[in-house]
Amino acid sequence: MQKIVRTIALAYNNLPRPHRVMLGSLTVVTLAVAVWRPSVYHPEHTPIAKNVELESNQVRSLAPEASEPIDVEQPTPDDDIPQDELDQKVAGEEGVHEYVVSTGDTLSSILTQYGIEMSDITLLSSQNRDLRNLKIGQQLSWTLNDAGDLQRLTWEISRRETRTYERVGNGFKESKETLKGEWRNSVLSGQLNGSFVSSASAAGLNRAEINAVTKALQWQLDFRKLRKGDQFAVLMSREEFDGKSEQSQLLGVRMRSGGKDYYAIRAEDGKFYDRQGSGLARGFMRFPTMKQFRISSNFNPRRLNPVTGRVAPHRGVDFSMPVGTPVLAVGDGEVVAAKYGSDTGNYVAIRHGRQYTTRYMHLKKALVKPGQKIKRGDRIGLSGNTGRSTGPHLHYELWTNQQAVNPVTAKLPRSEGLSGKDRSDYLAQVKEVVPQLQLD
Ligand SMILES: [Zn+2]
Repeated sequence: MQKIVRTIALAYNNLPRPHRVMLGSLTVVTLAVAVWRPSVYHPEHTPIAKNVELESNQVRSLAPEASEPIDVEQPTPDDDIPQDELDQKVAGEEGVHEYVVSTGDTLSSILTQYGIEMSDITLLSSQNRDLRNLKIGQQLSWTLNDAGDLQRLTWEISRRETRTYERVGNGFKESKETLKGEWRNSVLSGQLNGSFVSSASAAGLNRAEINAVTKALQWQLDFRKLRKGDQFAVLMSREEFDGKSEQSQLLGVRMRSGGKDYYAIRAEDGKFYDRQGSGLARGFMRFPTMKQFRISSNFNPRRLNPVTGRVAPHRGVDFSMPVGTPVLAVGDGEVVAAKYGSDTGNYVAIRHGRQYTTRYMHLKKALVKPGQKIKRGDRIGLSGNTGRSTGPHLHYELWTNQQAVNPVTAKLPRSEGLSGKDRSDYLAQVKEVVPQLQLD
């Protein structure tokens, strides 16, 4: 620790005077922010309070306190999560965040969990009041600029109508687009011969459609374990314009693997359920420990490195806890990494379905091995103070679609299925879709 302080002090003294003044004021501002308790973490204002998964995992004080243990630097694992063909991003979609609006969401609850500045969200919704009326099942997508600020937001109001808000000067410029194409349903089917990606594209699915299929079935199937001869049928609704397919929506998929059929059918809310209307994702715990510990450093995609002045995002949350506290897997999954890194210390990474990854760092000891299947609540390690860390704490990250999100506010996969009218509407939909999913 002393050595680090000395290094920083030395670097500071070598700086030209204007830089030193700048750095000094930055440090003061940083400390002020650390002491000031940001109201955004008041539990009553976060969606957490409504989350039924909390139970024994209740939120207490979430505000960071000064001199709490944190990582000295943003830990970067030595090896990245192993990726396969399915993880490659669709060309032109690099850096695009996507979100399907669900119950209780507002523009600000959605965007703040991705670390977008409240001032930008307020500006956007005061200029464009329609954005206050988001509906369940609508899709939002957005990109950020180099500074990590919102650059463009796209709101798909319906299949026909899209609005885009582009940052121009001190505001956002709105443009509306109405599509004139024809929507047609088509069934595409095929057999596994090689990877799923190549087999599905041979059956006529494009890359975005293949991604939609793997996402819909992610909680039931491991696509890497499909075998030659496994069969699939996909019902797509495609918009055709001038004879070309412009965009599409997955309505349902059936996969027969090892003699067993797996289904995922889209409901009105934009999510996928099984044939009975049950949710396919098992819920996640909000926190990776039995009790909730104080946060010593919040998720912050724009955290500045005080020495370099560059953006060095804090992609997770630091929880201050005694060495040896059992660390639990927040959801069912497979261990993809369990090893030591000089920054991260001992760390464990878990992949949950295809969409989610969690990482647990600075452990005293990992209790799992790569390739191991684990269940929600399993002990995966003991917390510690290994790697670049200023005191005993756990650095915890939650990634969805290869983007780090704020684990404290993010919408988590939930296990609930549909009920009431939503369920009866859905079952009627299943009756129409399932018979169309004929295998070759
Ligand atoms: Zn951290």
